[in-house]
Amino acid sequence: MSVAQEIINLKAELPEQVALVAVSKYHPVSAIEEAYAAGQRIFGESLVQELRRKAEELHLEGLQWHFIGHLQTNKVKYIAPYIALIHSVDSEKLLLEINRQGEKCGRRIKCLLQLHVAQEENKYGFTEAECWEYLESGAWKSLEHVELCGVMCVATNTEDENLIRNDFHRASDFFRKAKECFFSGQESFSVCSWGMSDDYPLAIQEGSNMIRVGSKIFGARVY
Ligand SMILES: *Cc1c(COP(=O)(O)O)cnc(C)c1O
Repeated sequence: MSVAQEIINLKAELPEQVALVAVSKYHPVSAIEEAYAAGQRIFGESLVQELRRKAEELHLEGLQWHFIGHLQTNKVKYIAPYIALIHSVDSEKLLLEINRQGEKCGRRIKCLLQLHVAQEENKYGFTEAECWEYLESGAWKSLEHVELCGVMCVATNTEDENLIRNDFHRASDFFRKAKECFFSGQESFSVCSWGMSDDYPLAIQEGSNMIRVGSKIFGARVY
């Protein structure tokens, strides 16, 4: 199936409240243009260098870039002027740097807190305990150039649906409690980013309202 057809089918299938991030990493700008022509506006990238190259090349009205990969503090400055949402905030140090760069370019940068809920060591993110402790500290309230908009996670890479569901469920629980305790008056704290090509239906059942889908749309990635 073509990229355009995949986008159209996927959008028809998604509940109204679920946003689609088309993960275009490792795919050429021509594929992004094809998705854009089919109506897709949000694109996710996970490498700063690749994102910079694509953002310089593409100037499409209304296109939004989301950063979804592990972000090194020394690279924040390259994407700060235009990034629409950083999904992958996994440390206080990174958040401080995003705030610093947001100030430099006069922006308030939208961010999600990445939770490490997967049963795998090689994944990034705050543990729930760490993240809760950070929120409790209140330190984030003084970051005027950061806007915390929700939570992101990646589930365990497994065939076991129960395990995947459980990972999403924990993230969903965390979001709900954080909303209640720290962000009840903040409408913009509303994003639950989980679900990829292989697990997005489960993710939506477990409260996701933003899915990040790559290979289902664009085909296999060539590394
Ligand atoms: C690559 C990636 C995706 C998309 O994965 P697919 O399985 O190709 O849909 C989603 N989220 C993150 C964080 C990724 O790195």
